Amino acid sequence: MIDELRRLEEQIRGCKRCPLHETRTNAVPGEGSYTPKVFFIGEAPGRNEDLQGRPFVGAAGKLLDELLTSIGLTRSDVYITNLVKCRPPGNRDPSEGEIRACSPYLLKQIELIDPSIIVTLGRHSTKFILGLMGRKFKSIMAIRGRIFRGKLVDRERTIMPTLHPAAALYNPNLRSLLQDDFLKLRNLIKRSSQGLESYL
Ligand code: URA
Ligand code: SF4
Repeated sequence: MIDELRRLEEQIRGCKRCPLHETRTNAVPGEGSYTPKVFFIGEAPGRNEDLQGRPFVGAAGKLLDELLTSIGLTRSDVYITNLVKCRPPGNRDPSEGEIRACSPYLLKQIELIDPSIIVTLGRHSTKFILGLMGRKFKSIMAIRGRIFRGKLVDRERTIMPTLHPAAALYNPNLRSLLQDDFLKLRNLIKRSSQGLESYL
């Protein structure tokens, strides 16, 4: 499994499946534990991530680190990746075509890492994952912090959408909503480790 994940990460680093490969510095496969307590899905690499080839290393990443710390987790407890693995120029939204080209990598990561709990960060990854579960999606504000149980990549998993940390960076109100959702996540992890997922 670990070999397969490493191979997949290498494949992503060399991928030319969509035009984003032309403008990237580095593809960003994702990183963290291969047996994570939580599997996080962001949107796409930003400038710092593109330069370093690592996910969430800029300002949004600093906030994500703080949120993890606030519930007693570190990066080595979790896996962090993105819906799209290469930076869209100027940090524009990823296109439908780019998501279609790139998402098989994310699905393969979910299959291999096989997380019980997935947190989608922001509108794009939330829409994509809930779509796979056959759920319509309207607004991230309407469903953030809600728990979805359902079949995703071969088995039942628990999904919690929340806001993208970048959206909350300069907005104290959104930041406190994000903090609330992380407290929910802490409880979710606790219950899951006690085998109580079905009582959510
Ligand atoms: N925003 C994202 O969605 N992903 C990153 O890796 C960094 C910022
Ligand atoms: Fe390949 Fe995804 Fe990068 Fe496009 S965004 S080149 S599909 S890794």
